[in-house]
Amino acid sequence: MTDNLVQAAYIVAAVLFVLSLAGLSKHESARQGNAFGIVGMVIALGATIWFAADRASDPGLTLTLILCAMAVGAAIGLWRARVVEMTAMPELVAMLHSFVGLAAVLVGYNSFNTSGGLTGSEANIHLVEVFLGVFIGAVTFTGSVVAFLKLSARIPSRPLMLPHRHLLNLGALVVSALLLVWFTAAESWIPLVLMTIVALAFGWHLVASIGGGDMPVVVSMLNSYSGWAAAAAGFMLGNDLLIVTGALVGSSGAILSYIMCKAMNRSFVSVIAGGFGSDGGVSGEERDYGAHREANASDVAALLAQARSVVITPGYGMAVAQAQYPVAELTSRLRAKGVDVRFGIHPVAGRLPGHMNVLLAEAKVPYDIVLGMDEINGDLARTDVVLVIGANDTVNPSAAEEPSSPIAGMPVLRVWEAKDVVVFKRSMATGYAGVQNPLFFKDNSQMLFGDAKERVEDILRSI
Ligand code: NDP
Repeated sequence: MTDNLVQAAYIVAAVLFVLSLAGLSKHESARQGNAFGIVGMVIALGATIWFAADRASDPGLTLTLILCAMAVGAAIGLWRARVVEMTAMPELVAMLHSFVGLAAVLVGYNSFNTSGGLTGSEANIHLVEVFLGVFIGAVTFTGSVVAFLKLSARIPSRPLMLPHRHLLNLGALVVSALLLVWFTAAESWIPLVLMTIVALAFGWHLVASIGGGDMPVVVSMLNSYSGWAAAAAGFMLGNDLLIVTGALVGSSGAILSYIMCKAMNRSFVSVIAGGFGSDGGVSGEERDYGAHREANASDVAALLAQARSVVITPGYGMAVAQAQYPVAELTSRLRAKGVDVRFGIHPVAGRLPGHMNVLLAEAKVPYDIVLGMDEINGDLARTDVVLVIGANDTVNPSAAEEPSSPIAGMPVLRVWEAKDVVVFKRSMATGYAGVQNPLFFKDNSQMLFGDAKERVEDILRSI
């Protein structure tokens, strides 16, 4: 009876998770999508706790232990989620992925420890499940830890270039395959532990050797791995909902990685193989691009007063400055005067897929004027003024014009085609990929130095 009810609850939760993903794919339905996800998770947790208590020899104790563990986890999670800055979200996400990986390793070890009763092909299948679950979990764990360290600038984002790095990766896979044979034949801890060490090193090396502009793909790839790690844990625990949920996360992460690769004009394999941004090409720093022009807030206000069409291209700096609120205010003031204002969002702007969309939605910018890179690029040549608010790599012409640039080939917002461009940033420093930006030195560009929020507020006062 309990089993049937639990299975029914799992099916309802799985359907709610699918509806949640569908809702989250559009601005308009994202809130509803979130609600479906929350209800699905409450049902899933309730059913799982009930199931565990029903099977336990001492239900009271089991229930108390689960609730205590959940209370501790929820307290830490709530505290982290409340204090985290929006700009630090990618690091937090990377860290959370590492927990999923670690959990899969621990579930695998426990599952092997308690799998005594199985025989024949059932036992073999279980051993393979344990091995794969621990492998994916260990790769996800160290890979996510390195991504966390890189994104939070605790280690340099530059790729680690060990000699024969592809051979090292291949070697790790071959050794793991041989250990799998040993493990299924001997049913011993030794090959399992050896493989864990190899997989931990493999995960570390895989992400350490990816650098600069490829990190967005790594974040979504680890998202995908964490899903597969959860699905593997689902197989080991015989929990169908965990398999479904893991597969949903795994495949949506894989689709996102594919979209990010396409946006950056990179093949998935070359990203995984690593080393992007490290080919020794001239990154621009050594080159003389000439002088840049500096503007002040009233110059920009005057420029905007003449403009009929304005495109705003935000980047990571808008998130750092939390400039989305004055930017939204500027947008509505200009629109009230009949200016055509639109936003151009690069797929990897900021530090998280959808980062800019979230900030603009938070500041209540209407969705219909927020366009993707491909939708806006064709219109930029007919635009009077482009305001680049804290974006850098995503508006760098060298990606299109300099084949030796470390970001060569990445499609960018062609803002330099507009009549006038104003770049809001604090200095002439490079962006995330560490590449100088020739846009700043173009004849139609002006730099408005300072914190983006303060400068936009200055413009609002001058208008
Ligand atoms: P960039 O990181 O290239 O540049 C941001 C710019 O913002 C900097 O040059 C900085 O210049 C400026 N800035 C920082 N703080 C402020 C502030 N308070 N006020 C005004 N300006 C500020 O940003 P983009 O969004 O253009 O590009 C994103 C980069 O991040 C890409 O290389 C992408 O590959 C990478 N990435 C993206 C991820 C994603 O999923 N979206 C994940 C991981 C990496 P200054 O210091 O002079 O002010």
